[in-house]
Amino acid sequence: MFENVTVAPPDPIFNIFSSYLKDESATKVNVGIGAYRTDEGKPWVLPVVRKVENMIVNSPDLDHEYLPLDGLKSFTDASAKLILGTNSPVILEKRYCAVQSISGTGAVRLGADFLKRFHDKTVYLPNPTWANHQSIFEDAGFTEILEYPYYNPKTKGLDINNLCDNLKAMKENSIVLFHACAHNPTGVDPKEEEWTQIAKIMKEKKLFPFFDCAYQGFASGSLDKDAWSVRHFVEQGFELLVAQSYSKNFGLYSERCGCLTVACQTPAKAEAVRTQLCKINRTVISTPPAFGARIVSKVLNDPELYKEWVSSLKEMAGRIKLMRRMLFDELINLGTPGNWNHIIDQIGMFTYTGLTKEQCLLIRDKFHVYMTESGRVSMAGLNTKNVKYFANSIDQVVRM
Ligand code: PMP
Repeated sequence: MFENVTVAPPDPIFNIFSSYLKDESATKVNVGIGAYRTDEGKPWVLPVVRKVENMIVNSPDLDHEYLPLDGLKSFTDASAKLILGTNSPVILEKRYCAVQSISGTGAVRLGADFLKRFHDKTVYLPNPTWANHQSIFEDAGFTEILEYPYYNPKTKGLDINNLCDNLKAMKENSIVLFHACAHNPTGVDPKEEEWTQIAKIMKEKKLFPFFDCAYQGFASGSLDKDAWSVRHFVEQGFELLVAQSYSKNFGLYSERCGCLTVACQTPAKAEAVRTQLCKINRTVISTPPAFGARIVSKVLNDPELYKEWVSSLKEMAGRIKLMRRMLFDELINLGTPGNWNHIIDQIGMFTYTGLTKEQCLLIRDKFHVYMTESGRVSMAGLNTKNVKYFANSIDQVVRM
């Protein structure tokens, strides 16, 4: 038995995190994992989440019965409205379905399982992309997992011309995965006019958009602005999938709270899609977990709680923006060789620094700074106490 089983390679991000935990240096810095931290370097339970948690736990009606296969309806309905917009024609005409998933990862996998069965087995991922995308589509049984150019290392910005040329050469029906906002790992998003250009080509070439939305509200601090790309595609008449995660914007990382929303042409199609998604859920998870969904549902469906949530979102997005500015200023003051404008131009949780793999390993060895070998830095790991040390470490490594 198991003669052929070899040790699987460690996950790059979780591996960095465990090395960080083992490091005994007092100045160590963790900018590897994408989880929000306060200025004290601590995890943050959003005050509104804490409040609602207590309401739920202390409710005399609380039980632990199974949810339906497609999850908590008050949560999935609110989720669809959050991403598509309350006044979206898709919502008003009831031609959508929304199915609860095991967070954003589970939503991408659910979407991949569905598309493989009912649409196409070719998917194009941006280069680079979140490391898990490739594995998810592989495990779902996609036969062609290809990439399209996204990031231009020279400009440290979007490679829009190459991206568009590649879209034009894709075969009809291919699935194209986009990050709705706050692209991971680059922090580079298309501007509105670039999304318009992309949607136009996608329509002409009959390509299928699959949005991964793990950072709504986290990128710009505005939930509507961060949903612009998805809503624009809907306005253009596309049928599409959106994988939503509540890990970052609610800080519900371990509750595994997510949703797959599908915009369809008719209510009947949406119902058919919903039943097929339920069928997939049944064999993989049976029914989704309730706690995170109950929290999100209460907040999204109550105007006062919603306001409190938006203010915490703005606080998180604002702190990250402040760290961008402070890191940039420190590097400029140090006269660190190179151009660092991208630190303030990129958005969302990550900065794609442009440091080489060698420099990333060196900074770990010499300065106890933990980041992925791609040079991606989770800005939430920086704070007013460690940003100077971090900038100095970069400065020295760049000069070595
Ligand atoms: N997609 C992207 C692009 C992400 O960055 C993440 C979080 N790292 C996810 C999906 C899913 O995260 P989770 O499963 O924790 O919701």
